[in-house]
Amino acid sequence: MLNKLETGSHSFSSATETERWQRELASAIRDPSVLLGELKLLKLLEDKFFDKFAKFPLLVPWDYVRRMESGNPDDPLLKQVLPLSEENQVVANFTSDPLLESQFRRAEGILQKYQGRVLLILTGTCAIHCRYCFRKEYPYRDEPRRLEDWEKSLTVIREDETIDEIILSGGDPLVLTDRRLGEMFQLLEEIPHLDRLRIHTRLPIVLPTRITNRFINLLHSTRLKTILVVHANHPQEIVGECESALRMMTQSGITVLNQSVLLEGVNDNVDALEALSLQLIATGTIPYYLHQLDPVKGTAHFGVDVESGIAIIRELRKRLPGYAVPRYVQEQPGKLHKTVLA
Ligand SMILES: *Cc1c(COP(=O)(O)O)cnc(C)c1O
Ligand code: SF4
Repeated sequence: MLNKLETGSHSFSSATETERWQRELASAIRDPSVLLGELKLLKLLEDKFFDKFAKFPLLVPWDYVRRMESGNPDDPLLKQVLPLSEENQVVANFTSDPLLESQFRRAEGILQKYQGRVLLILTGTCAIHCRYCFRKEYPYRDEPRRLEDWEKSLTVIREDETIDEIILSGGDPLVLTDRRLGEMFQLLEEIPHLDRLRIHTRLPIVLPTRITNRFINLLHSTRLKTILVVHANHPQEIVGECESALRMMTQSGITVLNQSVLLEGVNDNVDALEALSLQLIATGTIPYYLHQLDPVKGTAHFGVDVESGIAIIRELRKRLPGYAVPRYVQEQPGKLHKTVLA
């Protein structure tokens, strides 16, 4: 009887009932005048060129906007999402594929740069559009969508026993439903030489209602060791439901790491990064990487020079326990691992 009820409600919920995070994703802000009106910053509308961002338009969930400071045009969260005319500047060396990712495509949807680890581009969709994104111009349209389309690419993984870790990436893999993720997990865990499943996602930070008990159970249901790598850049992000979502995961025994990007005007100061690390540690999340910005077209105004980055890390190392200082890294095409700068 119980069984029957459960099955019944399950098929009902997967067919018609949308979860809270899906509704929040659907109602995320896409109109700059709504965002700026909410923040009492409508005066900014005049001198920005929003119509020029059709390819990578504004996208930001309400929950993230509520963490911004009203009336502050320099808010570090607002800066991460507001399209600016600076993005149209042409700057030498800032190109659409600076990491030469197209050269590391092993099969449809699969990138391999480093030994033992392959990256699966599961989706091109995200819950937020970060203006500094390094995969802004990635040709997502060429990648597999439906599960059947993955078959050929998974064969490459099945036939290569040197691969022991899968990294789900995108886009953001957590925009997929638990059901879709679960189906992919099943295909992967059948491959005997795989040991670890890593998920690179910004949703726990920008749309924390995505972290439900059902999702956590899903992570615990696979034989693969799961590691979540979230992406927060500023301490103001780690509050409220975001903070609880991180705690929920770490308290259930999931390893959660954070990566940040060093961004001018957002987190290029010791105090912000110190506070970020301490807030992450308080939730059980380990600061993993601080990335040097990749020279992607349209992001030059976020650039911080490497010397300043190294100076910030040196100071952090004086103030914080060793485990709270992220490794400051840069991706250099052709290198066999990320380059540690400090
Ligand atoms: C960063 C990255 C990885 C993972 O590198 P780790 O140093 O193990 O975190 C794997 N594949 C690609 C393409 C990457 O850019
Ligand atoms: S969430 Fe990640 S992939 Fe998506 S826009 Fe932001 S940086 Fe890019």
